[in-house]
Amino acid sequence: MPRVVFLIEDSLPHGRVGPELTPTLWSLVESGGWNPEGGVSVLASSTYPNHATFATGRDVASHRIFTNDIWDGQQFVCSSTIGPVGGTVFQAARRAGRSTAAVLGDQTMVGCMGASQADIHWPPKGVLPEGTELDCLGYAANAAVIDALASSDALDIDLLYIHMNDPDSTLHKFGPDAPETVERIREIDDDLASVVELLQPKWDETVLFVVSDHEQEAVNQNIEPIDLAAELYRAGLPGHAHNEGTIGIVYDSPGAASIKTLEPIEDAIDLDHTNDGTAITLAWSGPGRVFGRSNKTLAGQHGSPRTRTQVATVSGGHPAVANMATFLAAKRPHATDYAHLIANLLDLPLNR
Ligand SMILES: [Zn+2]
Repeated sequence: MPRVVFLIEDSLPHGRVGPELTPTLWSLVESGGWNPEGGVSVLASSTYPNHATFATGRDVASHRIFTNDIWDGQQFVCSSTIGPVGGTVFQAARRAGRSTAAVLGDQTMVGCMGASQADIHWPPKGVLPEGTELDCLGYAANAAVIDALASSDALDIDLLYIHMNDPDSTLHKFGPDAPETVERIREIDDDLASVVELLQPKWDETVLFVVSDHEQEAVNQNIEPIDLAAELYRAGLPGHAHNEGTIGIVYDSPGAASIKTLEPIEDAIDLDHTNDGTAITLAWSGPGRVFGRSNKTLAGQHGSPRTRTQVATVSGGHPAVANMATFLAAKRPHATDYAHLIANLLDLPLNR
């Protein structure tokens, strides 16, 4: 049975992966495999919906984390306070007697992935230890994640999830195409090299997935942000609206067809339908147009289908890597695929 390591480089743009800018990741791709078109995120193409999917193998309508913040029936709250509905790989692994660990650069991800169910999780209870080195937006720096990995028993475990929050913070701050971003992606590839180094002693037993959760698009600061609640009110439409990055979401929505009639909305889809005939509707506008209050400090954002491409790679020394590489190459993998690939590798009873 292999040791499975699932490493997410948050927001790493698929189009930047190559021998020049990410030589470590590129050497992993060459020794293992990938999908040259990249994978496909769940919608919203935001961090917490996709991480909940990575931990459950299910789409948003099943685990109920549709956007980073979710409606609890009375207000929008961070999805980490509720966590994914239904089972996770961590619970399935426990039932099968396999050990698990999650070392996560965004501390709120402990809640979003249900990672407190893992045998080891960091940061403990989703709270950053005092003195933790931070990235440019206040999440754990990749160096802190690497330290946490090196100083715990996480490397001797059957299934290990690692989340490196930067590049996400860098892309938000500078935008996807800034020289600062390109330079930082090069440095972040060195962080990946440090993780691969830590994995070396058991490399022959390892299946390593290195993926991203979504991309980012450049924020167009010249267009007014959309306040979706105000748009609903103006049009006399019902629903509880929330603005987040380049999408807005409506709970108790009259449905995508109605939401699409709102002037600034380019397109919308229903992510779920409820018994009372309402929907949960995701809406977006044109390239770079954000929802919510004007935030001139962020140059990059995500959420819309334009940021759906995920990095999708596999490598490692275990013989199962070849099969995984064949799977990834055969067709663009969906975010829901990975937990089931992992369940097959480790013989876990993961519910669909
Ligand atoms: Zn993300």
